Amino acid sequence: MTLSDEELERYARHIVLREIGGAGQARLKAARVLVIGAGGIGAPAIQYLAAAGLGALTIVDDDRVDRSNLQRQVLFTTADVGAGKAETAAARVAGINPNVAVTAHAQRLTAAEAPALIAGHDVVLDGTDNFATRLAVADAALAARVPLVSSAVAEFEGQLGTFRGWEAEKPCYRCFVGTDPEREGVSCSEQGVLGALTGILGSLAALEVIRAVAPFGEDSAGKLLLVDALGLRFRTLHLPKDTGCPACGTGTLR
Ligand SMILES: [Zn+2]
Repeated sequence: MTLSDEELERYARHIVLREIGGAGQARLKAARVLVIGAGGIGAPAIQYLAAAGLGALTIVDDDRVDRSNLQRQVLFTTADVGAGKAETAAARVAGINPNVAVTAHAQRLTAAEAPALIAGHDVVLDGTDNFATRLAVADAALAARVPLVSSAVAEFEGQLGTFRGWEAEKPCYRCFVGTDPEREGVSCSEQGVLGALTGILGSLAALEVIRAVAPFGEDSAGKLLLVDALGLRFRTLHLPKDTGCPACGTGTLR
């Protein structure tokens, strides 16, 4: 995958980084990324992924822009209220970077549809606020052996992890959250959330997608980042693989 003169100029600040370089930028150009949810996490992530020059972005969201989204989902403007999020986000991507092939799916992802949507993508970014969707995405990404970057925010707290559970020492998403479908997911749909915090976690999620495509520094799979905005604290925990995990270990799924 070669870079045009326009791309060499556009991505100059990536290419000058020894850890990325022209080779890393070419890997980004060759990559196809699936973003589930164009909300608090997805909206900022989509902006940075578009600017970073991913080859293809697929955006899945069945929601419409609500006035109450504008406090944090800065990809959208007041004039977008009532418009479909996936299509609006795709239009913004085209404006940020016309080199990105963007596809919008205005649909709610179900367990039945997840495998077909994930097929053909190199990384999945899950920023949805629905726990059932998160589990469906995580199971399908694990089965397809596609790295999953998962992030969530609520009130003043955020979390971020990268999962490659098919690897011997790496946990999957279910190793982290368990399997209880009744479990309350971390969600900002009803709770409050500080808008700028979603920008931090969304940007970090984009950073982890870029790392998954063009590896730099340490491998982050198997780590969990916890952000506490009240105490201005970032903590990184080691996430062990659960050898009895029903998804990636020896357990069985109910
Ligand atoms: Zn697991």
